[in-house]
Amino acid sequence: MKFEILTLFPEMFEIMNESIIGRAIKNGIIEINLTNIRDFSEDKHGHVDDTPYGGGAGMVMKPDVVYRAYQSVRKKSNGKVIYLSPQGKRLNQEKVKELAKEDELILLCGHYEGIDNRVIEEIVDEEISIGDYVLTGGELPAMVLVDSVIRYVEGVLSKDSTAEESFSESNLLEYPQYTKPDKFLDKEVPEILLSGNHQKIDEWREQQSILTTYKKRPELLTNAQIETAKKLLNE
Ligand code: SAM
Repeated sequence: MKFEILTLFPEMFEIMNESIIGRAIKNGIIEINLTNIRDFSEDKHGHVDDTPYGGGAGMVMKPDVVYRAYQSVRKKSNGKVIYLSPQGKRLNQEKVKELAKEDELILLCGHYEGIDNRVIEEIVDEEISIGDYVLTGGELPAMVLVDSVIRYVEGVLSKDSTAEESFSESNLLEYPQYTKPDKFLDKEVPEILLSGNHQKIDEWREQQSILTTYKKRPELLTNAQIETAKKLLNE
């Protein structure tokens, strides 16, 4: 899968060379190309923003500069253009899975007060927000999007890693996880997990998923699951 990212701060994406994403890039499973929007300023001082028409605080990214940067990327990608924006539709796991089916995506990162609306209207297919709060730029949201999406790209993780996770195949959060040592600060790993009985472990995990969701995000549960959680708590 290929990501073309339009940004004023390409250096911020260096952290994407680490860990699982870094490995996926090295293995050629994903490709992340960064385009510095600043390179498309034609003004001798390299300006990329200007004051807002109508007054008000902050600076607005200039439409012509963003448009030229977009055109240069369009020559090498047919992907749809996503503008990371607090005004967009909120990213969730369903959307993540949908985006992972694309071969290419173009991600547009705003900064300052945002981008002149005319270029957004002209080039953007979809606006995506990572939550109802405002960040200084679209770079972190773009990284959040890339990170969440590539987990569903074949070859990045083992299949089982995403199957049982929170939000993945049901409305439930994942069961609690444990690793060695089996005793830590007087707390022991639940005995069932050491039993080797996989059927019982699966049952326990299913129940724990319901209980975890009940305790942390009860609004995700159906009425039947709430009843099951209450019963489990009484046992
Ligand atoms: N003035 C804009 C508004 O009130 O809607 C906010 C601009 S914000 C300070 C600058 C840039 O950060 C935006 O253009 C966008 O790319 C990015 N951004 C900020 N918050 C975001 C969020 N929650 N999700 C996605 N992108 C966000």
